[in-house]
Amino acid sequence: MTIEKKEKEEILESQLAPGHKACTGCGLALAARTVMNTAGKDVIVTAATGCLEVFSTSYPQSAWKMPWIHSLFENSAAVAAGIEVALKALGREKEAKIIAQGGDGATADIGIGCLSGMFERGHNILYVCYDNEAYMNTGVQRSGLTPFEAWTSTSPSGKVSWGNPTEKKNMPAIAAAHGIPYVATASVAYLKDLEKKVKKALDIVGPKYLQIHAPCPLGWAHEPWDTIKVAKLAVQTGLIPLYEMENGVITSVRKIAKKAPVEEYLKLQGRFKHLFKKPGFEKELERIQAMADATIKKFNLM
Ligand code: SF4
Repeated sequence: MTIEKKEKEEILESQLAPGHKACTGCGLALAARTVMNTAGKDVIVTAATGCLEVFSTSYPQSAWKMPWIHSLFENSAAVAAGIEVALKALGREKEAKIIAQGGDGATADIGIGCLSGMFERGHNILYVCYDNEAYMNTGVQRSGLTPFEAWTSTSPSGKVSWGNPTEKKNMPAIAAAHGIPYVATASVAYLKDLEKKVKKALDIVGPKYLQIHAPCPLGWAHEPWDTIKVAKLAVQTGLIPLYEMENGVITSVRKIAKKAPVEEYLKLQGRFKHLFKKPGFEKELERIQAMADATIKKFNLM
């Protein structure tokens, strides 16, 4: 079999079918496809409102090759919890694994209450947060996971502002504080690592949380062909640490082989272009570099 034929067959086999309407170079689509292909056939999936739902389910079509339900922005975790309880009541809980999904806004802002409840009640569900660092589907508004000084339509840069004034909410730490058995971060730049974490999470009984860093060419204003390059630089600068926590303890980190300066990451993206223009920008770059360095130290990434 030629490599081309094998690739075509793999694409046709994919649990998230091709032909959906994601933008070219969408990191979220790649992340979701990898999660679903790793999870395999026997899964039931919920998805909060957001890009993932909009680009994959234009009525009457669907790219999902498994039972899939669209929840509201806030309740993907609660809908998944209802499915889990119903399967248990029917004695069929061994027949399917349940994955709840949401973007960063649905997870860290609007849906955090339902997610917290799902963790607290101990449902056997993997929750996946696709972190593209803003509300892309509704016009690139700032979310709780938008990075410091990024431009968004609700945190614009201008004469009196450098962009988003807050740092990324530490959602993995919030998830871990619930005492759940497994929390991990991943990136579309390292798909084997992502696959390994999905497999591991699905083998653990109880609530699991996986946060995947997924560049968005539209909202980050980078070239679509640079998605993996941008994702990799986020990790290599130390801004996005990749790690696993089991029962509240960090059990593995992805080491940085060669540290990259934050400028290399920031200058590829239009959402940070103001950082290289306004007088005094050097000080702001130093602040972001200090944040990356502190993360490298905190997680012992080098
Ligand atoms: S706006 Fe961003 S997240 Fe949404 S489909 Fe396009 S690239 Fe993907």
